[in-house]
Order: sequence, then C-alpha cells, then structure tokens
Amino acid sequence: MSLTDIKNSIRNIPDYPKPGIQFKDITTAMKNPAIFKEIIDEMAAHFAEQNIDYIIGIEARGFIFGAALAYRLGCGLVPVRKSGKLPADTITEEYALEYGTDKLEIHKDALKKGSRVVIVDDLIAIGGTAKAAANLVQKLGANVVSFAFVIELTALNGREKLHNIADVYSLVQF
Ligand code: AMP
Repeated sequence: MSLTDIKNSIRNIPDYPKPGIQFKDITTAMKNPAIFKEIIDEMAAHFAEQNIDYIIGIEARGFIFGAALAYRLGCGLVPVRKSGKLPADTITEEYALEYGTDKLEIHKDALKKGSRVVIVDDLIAIGGTAKAAANLVQKLGANVVSFAFVIELTALNGREKLHNIADVYSLVQF
C-alpha cells in the first residue's frame, strides 16, 4: 500500500456540483478497508508525538477521518458544524467556498483554553473552510497546532491562507 494507491483510489467527478469543479470523491477510498486503514495510519503517525488534545472534525467528511484519527491518537473529537446543527450555545464564522458561501459553528464550551488541536477535513481547496474553523478554535482560546487533509488541491493555493496560522499537512496532492 502506497500513497499512489491511495491517490488512485480517489474518484474524480468532473463538473460536480458545478461546471468546472473537479470533485474528489473519497467514498471510493473509504470503502476499501486497506486504503482507509492506510490513510488513518499515515495521518496518525504524523501526529503521534505532538501531544494533541483534540481533533476538530469539519462537517461532514472531516468527521469521518477526524473520528478515526482521534481514536488512534487517543484524544477528544470536537465537531465544527454548518449553522443550526449544534444544540448548545455556539459561536459562528462565515466563509467563502470554492463554490458559494457558508457558516460554521462550534460549541462555546467545546475546548479548554490553551489546548492543542488539529483541524481535520477530507480536502483543502481554497482554504476558506479550514481558516473559518481555525478562527473558531482561536476565539475559544485553544492553540491550532496543525491542519490535516487527506487531499490538497495544490493549484488553488489554499495552504497560503493557513500557513501563517499553523502547519499544513496533506496526505496526497492533486
Ligand atoms: P475550501 O474551503 O475551498 O478549502 O473547501 C474545502 C471544503 O469543501 C472541504 O470540506 C471539501 O470537502 C469541499 N470541497 C471543495 N472543493 C472540493 C472538491 N473539488 N472536491 C471535493 N470536495 C471539495
């Protein structure tokens, strides 16, 4: 199992959800147990020695990889969700997407001040989603140690929005 195998397992859907978007469909990677395990093992190895307190999983595909990673690292899992989904008191950030705008929320009491967190999503495109998640984490007084993505779309330069906040880790690049 190699990074090339992981890369080859990701399906490209042209013009979804809009003309011009090359949608990276990770369902074809997740359904293969050896690939899914390799993705999580690689990410966990990268963060194993970094004393992470919480994984922040971004709705929705960030929950999938974030949950498995939190389990492997033995740390907590905190959801960042689209607006209106979290039941207790929240704070909100609005952000621009590769296609459209949206709002993200986190529970006000989700993170201990000074705790060390990694923000996880399946993919970084222009980086607006991850930056909004980082703003939420920082407003709660926690420390963003790194961003972690399974896929980075390098031509969109999303990491430029993030690298002054924290390290940017991606497993495979297109
Ligand atoms: P961005 O804020 O532009 O970095 O967008 C990242 C978020 O949008 C992630 O949650 C991705 O799942 C989703 N996304 C954006 N572009 C794509 C794409 N080309 N293929 C799959 N997911 C995408």
